[in-house]
Amino acid sequence: MSENETSNPDEKIRHLTTEITKMVTSPVHIMVVCSGYQVTIQKYHLGRLLPEQIQLHYGPGCPVCLASPVFIDKLLEYGKRDNVIIATYADLLGIPGSVSTLEESRTAGADIRVVANIWDVLTLAKKNRRKRIVFPAVGFESAASSTAAAILQAKVAGIFNFHVLNNHKRVLAGMEAVLKQKEAAVDGFISSGRVAASMGADYFRLISEEHRKSQVISGYEPAEILEAILHLVKQINNETVILENLFTSAVTEKGNLKSHQLLEEVFEADDTTWTGFGKIKNSGFRIKNDYRMFDAEKVFFDAETATPVLPEGCLCGEIMRGLKSSHDCPLFSKICNPIHALGACMYSVEGPCRIEFLYGR
Ligand code: SF4
Repeated sequence: MSENETSNPDEKIRHLTTEITKMVTSPVHIMVVCSGYQVTIQKYHLGRLLPEQIQLHYGPGCPVCLASPVFIDKLLEYGKRDNVIIATYADLLGIPGSVSTLEESRTAGADIRVVANIWDVLTLAKKNRRKRIVFPAVGFESAASSTAAAILQAKVAGIFNFHVLNNHKRVLAGMEAVLKQKEAAVDGFISSGRVAASMGADYFRLISEEHRKSQVISGYEPAEILEAILHLVKQINNETVILENLFTSAVTEKGNLKSHQLLEEVFEADDTTWTGFGKIKNSGFRIKNDYRMFDAEKVFFDAETATPVLPEGCLCGEIMRGLKSSHDCPLFSKICNPIHALGACMYSVEGPCRIEFLYGR
C-alpha cells in the first residue's frame, strides 16, 4: 500500500509511521522551519510515534522570537511620546525588551492598542489624524507582503500618520545562516509551507541546489508532516538531494506574483539582527526611500535605545539556531511559563517553549 492509498487519517498515520520505522536505519536530523509544524507535531504527539532515530529540531521558525530586544526597546521609546499610539498584535505585548514590556508600558500610561490586522491600523490612523500611529511589523516574507500592501494603500489614501517599525525577516536567510554556522546537525528541512505559498517552491531551491540539503515543503496536517518525514528519509537513504513540494494545494512553483511585486515595490534588502544569530547579511527588508514617510525609524530618528539585554539564562537564541530544545533550559516550566514568560520563545504564541509547554507533555 502506498502512503496515499487510504483516506482514513488514523490508518494513514499508522501506515506512515510504520514505513518511516522500516526505512530509517541511522539517525536523521530534520529541521522544521515553521512554528505551525511544531504546533501539529506537539499537539498530536507525533514525536512519540516516530522511531528514536528521527531527531526533530525547531530552527528559526518563530519571527517574534527572532526580533532583537532592541525592537521592543524602540517601541517603548516611541510610546513615551504624547502624540504616539502603538498599534500592535497581542503577541508582542509581553515580549521582554531590555527593561520592560509593552504591557507594562501600557499600564504606566502609554497609548498601546491591540489590533487584529494591519488594515485596522490604517483605520485607526484615519480616525486619529493628529496622532502618529506606529505598527510593529514582524513576520517572514508572506507577512512582509501584507505590510507592503498596507504602505501602498496608505500612500494612495494619504494616510501619512501611519508608520511601520519594520522587523520583517527572510526565513530563507535564517536557514542559510543555520547551515553556514555549521553548528546544528541538519540532514534535511521541512521548509515553511506558509512562506512557500506566497514566494513559491522555487524560492527554497537554493537550499538543496547550493547547500546540498534535502527539503520537503509540507502541509500542516499530522499525516502530511509524517509524509514529509518519510520523503526526507527516502531522500537521505537514496543519497538524493532535491526539493519536493508535497503541499501542492497551496504552493505553486512561482508562488503569488502579486506578493513578489509588493515586496519589490516597497522594500529592498537589508542586514538585520536575529536573536541567537546576530546580524545576517541581506536577511531583512528595508523600506525604500520612496516610502520613507511610513518608516518609523526615519520619523523617530532621534529616539535613543541602550544596548539590548537578553533575559538572563534564556536559551531562546540557541533554540532558534537548532542547538538546544526548550527542555535544555533549566528555567523551562519552573520559572518560565506562559503566565510569567522570561523570553519571547515562551511569550509568543508561535514560540517553541510555549508550544512545548502547552502541548509537549
Ligand atoms: S523556557 Fe523561557 S527562559 Fe528558557 S529558553 Fe524558553 S523562553 Fe527562554
